[in-house]
Formats: sequence, C-alpha cells, structure tokens
Amino acid sequence: MDTSITFASLGLAEPLLRAVHDAGYTHPTPIQAQAIPRVMEGGDLLAAAQTGTGKTAGFTLPILHYLIKNPAASRQAGRPRVLVLTPTRELTAQVEESVRLYSQHTQIRSMVMFGGVNINPQIAALKKPLDILVATPGRLLDHAQQKTLDLSGVEILVLDEADRMLDMGFIHDIRRVLRLLPAKRQNLLFSATFSDEIRSLAQGILRNPGEVSVARRNTTSELVSQQVVMTEQSHKRDLLSHIIRESGWHQVLVFTRTKHGANRLAEKLVKDGLTAAAIHGNKSQAARTKALSGFKDGKVAVLVATDIAARGLDIDQLPQVVNFELPNVPEDYVHRIGRTGRAGSTGSALSLVDSSEIKLLRAIERLTKQTIAPITVEGWNPGAMVTADSAPDAREKRALARLEGDLRGGRQDAGAGRSGSRDGRRRPSSEPRQSQDNRRGDGRRSDARAPGNRPARSGSAAPTARRDARPQGGRPAALLHKAD
Ligand code: AMP
Repeated sequence: MDTSITFASLGLAEPLLRAVHDAGYTHPTPIQAQAIPRVMEGGDLLAAAQTGTGKTAGFTLPILHYLIKNPAASRQAGRPRVLVLTPTRELTAQVEESVRLYSQHTQIRSMVMFGGVNINPQIAALKKPLDILVATPGRLLDHAQQKTLDLSGVEILVLDEADRMLDMGFIHDIRRVLRLLPAKRQNLLFSATFSDEIRSLAQGILRNPGEVSVARRNTTSELVSQQVVMTEQSHKRDLLSHIIRESGWHQVLVFTRTKHGANRLAEKLVKDGLTAAAIHGNKSQAARTKALSGFKDGKVAVLVATDIAARGLDIDQLPQVVNFELPNVPEDYVHRIGRTGRAGSTGSALSLVDSSEIKLLRAIERLTKQTIAPITVEGWNPGAMVTADSAPDAREKRALARLEGDLRGGRQDAGAGRSGSRDGRRRPSSEPRQSQDNRRGDGRRSDARAPGNRPARSGSAAPTARRDARPQGGRPAALLHKAD
C-alpha cells in the first residue's frame, strides 16, 4: 500500500472522508487508489479486482462524490441515478450496506433489490426518492416490467462481479437491462478475472475505458497460507470435525460442491457437537441471513457453503477457509481462498483431497503457479474413528500409500496404477515398491506416514480433551504438520 496517498489527497468530499475515518480506514487500498481518480474524472472503467481488495469502496466513494457535487434538481421516486448490478442476493445486500456506510453523513438514499423475497415492500420503497439502486438483474427486470421502476435517469452503471454474472447465466438479463438505460452514462465493470467473455461484454458496454488491476489474473494472496491433507473421501467428515475441534477454529468457512453436500456436512458437524450452518441457493433468504449473521457474530463457528452462495460474503478477517472438496473449476479455488487473508490480515486455506481430486489439485497448482504443501494431522487416526464396517482395510492402505507417492511425485494420474516415490523421483519399474511395502498385511494401518494418516500418538488427547487450551486465533500450527 502506498502510504503517501490518502483519501483526502484523492479529493473526496468531506462527508465521505468522515465516513471513511469512522470506518477506521487509514489509507486507500491499491484498487481504491487507482479506481477513485478514474471514476471521478467521469470515464468508463474496466477493473480487475477480487472481493476483499476494497473494490466496493473503490466505486462507491467516487460515485457518492459525484452525487454530492452534482445534486439533482429534484429527486424522483423510483428513478435512481446510479444502478449497481450484482450476481447474488448476499453481495447485493453487502454492497448496499457499504453504500449506506459511506453515505451516512449525506442525504443520499440507496435501496437494495433482489428476488426470492416479497416484492411488495420493494414496490413501497420505490415510491420514495432514490439515488442509488443495488440490484440483482432478475428482480430489477420484474420491477421495470411492472413500471414500478424507471431506469431512464441512470447516469452511472456498475457491473459488480461481472465474471460471476456471466457464469450464472445473466448475460441475457444484463442485455435487457442495458436496453432500458439511457445511452449517455458512465459505465464501471468489476471482475475478478478478465476472460475473453468478459472482454467481449466490456467491449459492448464500455467506451474507451481506463483499466485498473490489483492482482494478476488468478493469483492468490501471499497472506493466505495454503495446505493440503490427503485423505479418503469417506474420512473427510470425521477429519474435518477433528481438525476444527483440535485447532479451536472459531470461524471457518467450508466449501462443498453441492447444496446437498453442504446440508449433510453441516448436520454432521452439529452432531459432532460443533455449531454449524449451511448456506446455499435453496435456502430461504431469511435462513441465509440468519446463518450469515450467526457466523459473523461468532454464534456459529462453521459455515458450510457452495461456491455461488459464498460469493461476495463480506466477512471481516475470516481466518480459515476449508475446501471440503476441491472445485471443478480451478479459478473457483482462487475465489474461495480469497475469502481469507483480506485487507491485510493473514489467513489459511486447507483442502481435503482424495485420490479422485489429484487432477484438480494439479490444475490449481498450474493456474496459481504454486505447489501446495501436503501436511499430516496430529492425533488423527481414522481407524479409531470409523465404524467396524467401514474400518480401513488393506485396499485403503494401498490407496493412501499411492496417494502419497502421487503427491510427492507431482503426478496427475492417481489411481492409474503407476506410483511415484517418496522423494519425488519416478521409481524405475524394477525398483521395489517401498512405500507400499510398508503395509503390514494385517489390514491395519502401519506407521507409514501417508498424508492425513499420521498414527495417533499414545496418550493423544481425545477430541474434546483439549477444549480449554484452544488458541482463539485458530492457527493450526500445533496440529497440522508438513508431511516430510
Ligand atoms: P471489498 O473488496 O469491497 O469486499 O472489501 C473488503 C473489505 O475491506 C471490507 O470489509 C471493507 O470494509 C474493507 N476495506 C475497504 N477499504 C478499506 C481500506 N481502505 N482500509 C481497510 N479496510 C478496507
């Protein structure tokens, strides 16, 4: 962060400087330092910035500045001057919350609008004067159709998380909204990535845009430590409970691939005595809001979410993210772990990976140009935790040994019958299969330190025994070890 730039030196109006001061911000973040002057000049903007970079203030502050300096002759009900389009209900609510925060010392009025809730209170709210509307595209079009909303006065359009809007299939809705807007307007497009699709959308909307970028495409924050534990799929739930309990994590966001998986995992964690809730698109808005506020207040320690539901969740200083399953799309990994290590604080991202996911792991490593260290978990002994009928057997032991070899050997075809070696060299076919020979042949685990399968030390604490000694920061240092 360049400390010579201050919010005052950017020329923002006094009520905004006061709000920023109230929020405790001392200096603009890099995206703010770049975007604010550009937006204040009045030009279009194409900005590459992930959630967590301070992008919301990056567009909200100069927009508020513009509205303060150019007050409308008369404000009209249901006719906003600024339209912010976002992909999800959560992000919409959070952006509007930020607008309210930064406009608290002004007369500027904002409103939030999304689907899945009763439309009538929104219709009533639209009968009052309005400056800034933050909306998801679908409900916005409903209002426009019912003529409860007039978009002909929009002077500034913001497309926030445009990449996600395209992912979610909003392109036609966006085009429909664009047709309702006046041709002369300022356009700001924010996206975590600049795919070809985003570039072509931008070309159709933006005129001679300035480009700002704060993180290289698909890079991960240096403030986030990334780790992998290799484990069987059937052990993941017990392993996760174990790690959360033993590490004393009090605020952890866990990603699953499916809504159903999110529900099942949250239920299981609750059975294990943890406070957990699931958040995904099938839940009512009330249930999602309740889960999120419980998580933010510290009443819920574990929030289990799908990618789309978690998108845009604004949780300050989230210390811990877990990938219960790796995402199918490597870019989603970058988005997921961007939930932690925000605004200068450090975070940690742990992925539970089974043999079927090694290809995904390699794709993530190629994308982020980093290798992610495999670790072992102290005191984790799945053999002692699973029921008799799912107890580890020789086949499972072999699978774990193979996983370890694959992981160390940088292989991508786990389970294909070949094996890497512990030191990372590909073993000649004549060399004895040492790691697999660690099998004891009795169907129980040997001391081979397959990742995620470190044998329990004798006298190792039962999962609940160390509850009082938990570090509140939730750092896993004592529990998770490098696998070599
Ligand atoms: P965003 O990327 O807009 O979701 O912002 C991420 C987080 O950074 C939010 O919790 C903001 O409150 C916080 N934030 C925004 N700007 C600053 C700043 N200049 N200094 C410190 N924190 C900030």
